[in-house]
Parts: sequence; C-alpha cells; structure tokens
Amino acid sequence: MPGTLYTVATPIGNLEDITLRALRILREVDLIACEDTRHTRKLLSHYGIAKPLISYHEHNERERAAQLISKLESGIDIALVSDAGTPLVSDPGYRLVREAIERDIAVVPIPGPSALIAALAASGLATDEFLFAGFLPSKKSARRARLAELAAIKSTLIFYEAPHRIKETLADALEALGNRECVIARELTKLHEEFTRGRLNEIELNERAMRGEIVLLIAPPDEDMVEQAEASATTIREEVEQLMRDEGLDQKAALKRVARSRRMSKSAAYKLFLEERAADDLE
Ligand code: SAM
Repeated sequence: MPGTLYTVATPIGNLEDITLRALRILREVDLIACEDTRHTRKLLSHYGIAKPLISYHEHNERERAAQLISKLESGIDIALVSDAGTPLVSDPGYRLVREAIERDIAVVPIPGPSALIAALAASGLATDEFLFAGFLPSKKSARRARLAELAAIKSTLIFYEAPHRIKETLADALEALGNRECVIARELTKLHEEFTRGRLNEIELNERAMRGEIVLLIAPPDEDMVEQAEASATTIREEVEQLMRDEGLDQKAALKRVARSRRMSKSAAYKLFLEERAADDLE
C-alpha cells in the first residue's frame, strides 16, 4: 500500500493558529517535507513533536518530488508544510501533488490558516467573489500589464506583496484600476497586526507600514467605474445607433444624450461620431 501525502496548513504568525488535526497528523506521519527545516523545527519543538524533516523548496522541487514520490510508493506517510500558511498557495508543492495524483497516491488536505483568507475576512471588502492573483510581477512593465488584465474583473482582487514594493504597486494599481477602495493587511496574527483602509489615492504609508508581511486587497470597481469602462469600450456611433433603434430617438437627440453621458460637448461628440462613421465606411 502506498503512503498518504498530507498537505498541512501551519500558522502565519501566531503559533496558536494550528488545528488539533494538523498536530495529530504531524505526530503520526513518518516524514515532514518543509521549505526551511530550521523554521519548521521551531514550530514542531513548540508542540513537542520530533520527526525527521526533509527540505522541499523551489530550488530542489524537481528532484525532491521524485524522491518523495518513491518514498510514498514504498508506504511512507508524508506531511508537506510550508514556512507559513497553506502549502501550494504561493508556495512549493504543486509538482509533488500533481505527481502523487498521477500515481494514485492519496492526497489529503489538512486545512488551516492562509494569509489571503485571514486578510479577506477582516477587510470589509466584498467576499462573495474574489480573485487571488498571488504576487504581481516585480518588473514595472509586467506588473502594469498584469493589473490592466485584471481591470475588467468585478471581484475583490487579492495580492501578496513585498513591503519594499507596496508603494509602487499602489501607484500602478491606481493607474490601471482607477481609484478603488483598498485594504493593506499587514503582519496578520502577529503582535503588530495592522489594517490600513482607504481609496488607492488616499493611502499614506509610513516607514513601519512598509515593513513585514503584506496582503493587498482591492475592491471591485464601483458601478460608475464599470459604466465608464463599458462606455469607452463602445463607440459613440454604436451608442447613438442603439438609442435610435431602441428608443426611437432621432440622430440629433441621440447624440445629445450620448454627449451628456460621456460628459463631453455636443460638437466634440458629433465630430467623433463622423470620424467613426468614416472609419467604419472605409473598412
Ligand atoms: N502559503 C502562504 C499562505 O497560505 O498564506 C503564503 C506564502 S507566500 C510565500 C508569503 C506571502 O504571504 C507574504 O509575502 C505575504 O504577502 C503573505 N503573508 C504570509 N503571512 C502573512 C502575514 N502574517 N500577514 C500578512 N501577509 C502574510
């Protein structure tokens, strides 16, 4: 019989945040695979658990996964933990879990803390739909492009962010997403836990706010932001023609309505309308 692979969530700061089941599994397995053996040893010794540890991190994932799979196939039970929170969530483990599943090895989750869920639960932002986007790219151009891709999504956006990049990320988010509500959840479950809330252009970060571990949450776009984005995605000509069709307005009245909704003058709207029509006729 092959062994079982347990993915075990561990605390994200406060050592009390570990489930009874997680402690039992860590006591029962034959081997614990972890990112940093010194870090995990501290957690285990706090709970009086002595177990063989083996490192499994982003730099040895490939070879280690193969070794761990053969141990599992020989009947050894393994717990996979990361330095903090739920393994595989912006942490190593994906390769190992995929390979275990391919070989019919049981993979059993032992749920517990994850920074994104803890942050969301106290953020005060919409929780019915959210998108966890992990870490944004560190390069500015790639980060802006990623944020632009996410602009149309009507859910709360959640990111992990490094403290030295948070200021730049807020500025890029303001530009790409508009002035949305946001929350910076810092040092969750630790002594200096802190939530900073406000619009993207209002957040002021002092020295302390740029230290420690951070989850950034950004609210979905407001109704009028969505309307504006939708309006700029349709041409004036399309909108005018739609009003003529749907509401029986003549062209002049339709243009007047569109100009008002786009907060532009009638003459500017008419000019754009003619340009769009000329461009469409050329196609
Ligand atoms: N697997 C972890 C989880 O389930 O949350 C995440 C690991 S990821 C490598 C580390 C990132 O998670 C940090 O850079 C930070 O963005 C976030 N994080 C972890 N612990 C946190 C905490 N106590 N407070 C705020 N953010 C935290």
